[in-house]
Parts: sequence; C-alpha cells; structure tokens
Amino acid sequence: MLWMLALICSLPVTNRAQAEKTEPENSKFPMTQSPTYNLEKAEKLARELRGKGIRDKAVLAAIARIPREAFVDEALAEMAYLDRPLPIAEGQTISQPYTVAMQTELLQLEPGDRVLEIGTGGGYQAAVLCEMGVELYSIERYEELYQTARETLNRLGYFPKLYHGDGYEGLPREASFDKILITAAPETIPPKLKEQLRVGGLMVLPLGGRERQQMTVVKRVSETRYSTSTHGDYIFVPMKKGTE
Ligand code: SAH
Repeated sequence: MLWMLALICSLPVTNRAQAEKTEPENSKFPMTQSPTYNLEKAEKLARELRGKGIRDKAVLAAIARIPREAFVDEALAEMAYLDRPLPIAEGQTISQPYTVAMQTELLQLEPGDRVLEIGTGGGYQAAVLCEMGVELYSIERYEELYQTARETLNRLGYFPKLYHGDGYEGLPREASFDKILITAAPETIPPKLKEQLRVGGLMVLPLGGRERQQMTVVKRVSETRYSTSTHGDYIFVPMKKGTE
C-alpha cells in the first residue's frame, strides 16, 4: 500500500525538537466550522510542521485552522492530526501534512492567485489553499472522490471550483494560472499544464518514476523557456490518464 510506503519516505527533518508556537492570525476567509472540531490538535500539528522546517506563516496558520479529521473516515479520526498520509476511497491517499505544507510553501502564494490543483483527492490540500485566499480550481479523476470532496469542503465553508476530469488536460478555458500544483506523480511534466501556466508562474509537482519522485518546481521564464529546481524525495500515488 502506497500510503504505508510513504510513512518510511525519508524527509528533511530539522533537529528543532521544540517548535515555536504558530502566531495566531485572524482569518480573512472565515469558515463555518462545526464547534465539535477540536482545533487545538490542528494547532499542535502546525507547530510540529514548523519544527520540521516549514517556514511560511500563512501555510502554518491555514493548517492550524483546518479540522483534518473531516477529510478522513470516522474510524481514522484519531489519526487525523498525525503527520502521516491516510487512506481515502478508491485506493487513494490524503497526503501527509508535511508534504501538503511543503508543496504549498514552494508555490509562494499571494492572496488572489489563480491556482490549479490536479488531484483533489479528499480535499484537504484544497482547504489549505482556500484558507490562503487564492482563487482555486481543482480537478479529480474519480467521480466519487470529486463528490465527497465537494461535500466536505462546502460543509466547512470552502467553495473552490471543483471538476471531475483528467488533470492531464488542465482547464484550457480558465487558463492561464499563476500557480499549478500537482498532487499525484506524472512521469514527465504534462505538456498541456506547462502551456496553461502564465509567464512568471510556478508549477510544483512530484516528478520521476513509480517508486519515488523528486519534488520539482517549474518556473515559466518566458513564452518558450522553463527552469526547474528540485526539493527532495517523496512518494506519491501515480497520476493516471482518463477518468473513472
Ligand atoms: N490533494 C490531495 C492528494 C490526493 S492523492 C490531498 O489533499 O490529500 C492524489 C489524487 O490525484 C488522487 O485522488 C488521484 O485520484 C488523483 N489523480 C491521479 N491522476 C489524476 C489525473 N490525471 N487527474 C486528476 N486527478 C488525478
């Protein structure tokens, strides 16, 4: 099972055992949370991620405000605030919080950015992006996951534009995007997504073979030129063609 493999995935972890407290920040994009969610656990998770090297305060503040348990099966609620990937329907995973935070940090988001996410999954990453005040478009290839993510996100007060479709196609009618985030692993950079990135925009994706991928940032430098940088090894579920 890939999500179990991901548990042993080597990640850059700092020695800072005592994470500093995340600064509280007023939500500019309020959500209608159920009072039954215990957000102290989400705050503790954000502090843990800060201890592991995540620096972007807006990313940490978003994680501290989101009840991750809403995105997993009730039976897994106890594990929802651990820094671990967890299984969701269709054999897919909800990414490890560290990975969500790292990918989001690498996007260098500005409020109002037009962001395209490939692989909505359960919707947790989408919630982080919504909390950060971006205009989010997100595509999922499994209809069941698309439906569930929409219900969960709307219940929590998030209303991104969600699509059931093949992320390899992107959203040509909505292009271009300031940022593109791929949360499943393609073997090469999807050409149509490169075209839908604006000049100056960034794409963050896990790139490489089936076994292991390198976190990669692609910058569109000009109409025809792209530069890339890599940021450590990860294990993601594969980005698959078509829809189900
Ligand atoms: N963003 C999610 C990660 C889910 S795992 C989170 O917050 O946890 C990756 C997701 O990408 C899976 O749900 C998988 O079904 C989806 N996926 C894989 N290939 C895809 C494609 N071609 N188009 C859209 N989604 C895809």
